[in-house]
Amino acid sequence: MSATSHGGLLALVREHGGLSRQQMLDVTGMSRGTLVARLDALARLGYIYEAEALAPTGGRPARRVRFDDRGRVVLAVDLGQTHARVAVTDLAGRELRGSASDVQIADPGVLAAALDSGAALLAGGRGERLVGVGIGVPAAVDPASGTVVHPTTIPGWAPGAVRDAVRERWTVPLVVENDARAGAVGESRGPDETLVHVKLSMGIGCGIVVGGEVLRGAAGLAGDIGHVRVGPATGPLCRCGRRGCLAAYASGRALLERLGGSLGDLVAAQFDPTVAAALTEAADVLGTALATTVTTVNPHRLVLGGTLGPLPLVVERVRRQIHETVTERAWPVVEAGTSGATVTGLARLVVAAAYAPEAVDAAVAAAPRPP
Ligand SMILES: [Zn+2]
Repeated sequence: MSATSHGGLLALVREHGGLSRQQMLDVTGMSRGTLVARLDALARLGYIYEAEALAPTGGRPARRVRFDDRGRVVLAVDLGQTHARVAVTDLAGRELRGSASDVQIADPGVLAAALDSGAALLAGGRGERLVGVGIGVPAAVDPASGTVVHPTTIPGWAPGAVRDAVRERWTVPLVVENDARAGAVGESRGPDETLVHVKLSMGIGCGIVVGGEVLRGAAGLAGDIGHVRVGPATGPLCRCGRRGCLAAYASGRALLERLGGSLGDLVAAQFDPTVAAALTEAADVLGTALATTVTTVNPHRLVLGGTLGPLPLVVERVRRQIHETVTERAWPVVEAGTSGATVTGLARLVVAAAYAPEAVDAAVAAAPRPP
């Protein structure tokens, strides 16, 4: 990518929140003819528009060229193991319309039903333009291909199931991401913050953001802490087939196997002595396991998300374990996550992918030439 490619110019416009042509000529050093041709191509494809006139400096008033985010939307689908949230957001990740439903992720119809909801939500907008689709799944995702790998939670899904199902409906850029990692992106306050986000729902997932980028790892497994063995090899059997995994002690599923009911029931009964004792025990195991992550990554914040992570008791116990096991200078702020972080994160990932300079250059190259 050169700074003056179509995508490079768009990045420049987005970064500055709008520039005049003269400013772009000054910054890039490119010829006026090339600049005009490239801006025309970007405007034709709806990436930019000419906005308000700048203060006149004599002669014809210059207009500011702006990034065209008007009416642009993202479809974000957050598929959890027992809960799905489908949302249409603006490019900042703010939810415009959404719907939630209880699901069983192993049910093969879940994906199609979620995409149907998404299509219905999109149809409810007026004058909108879909920029991309983001799907969060409770499984590891291969960063290069967007395929689901090691699907302990969704064994019936073909690796390319998500990608293929979306492709049948929409041709816009697609991001498939692990839900805990998408949540980490949604919680991130920017490139200056190192962040660890833990999703504690039916399973346990973790996303790490450093320098504004989420870590994916060599095989897409960065942050997949749920199946670290934390107990003896004779410990409780985990769904992955091994024994003593963190998830076998501290996940929502492990709690429900002992207590019965649903995650919602646990939240409703969080102050019941039996439930509180089980949550305390689970959070203590989780907090101890996270000490290694905290020491390795040294985050500013450790954010506890998902259905159970934000419960005050869980936050308090995890914080206490971190304080007991990690040197004080490395203590992060330990706090509850915000609801909707996964949807926001998916939207941010989609925007980053759809407006990446290489993606814009490719879109321009693929567009039909004007007559
Ligand atoms: Zn396991």
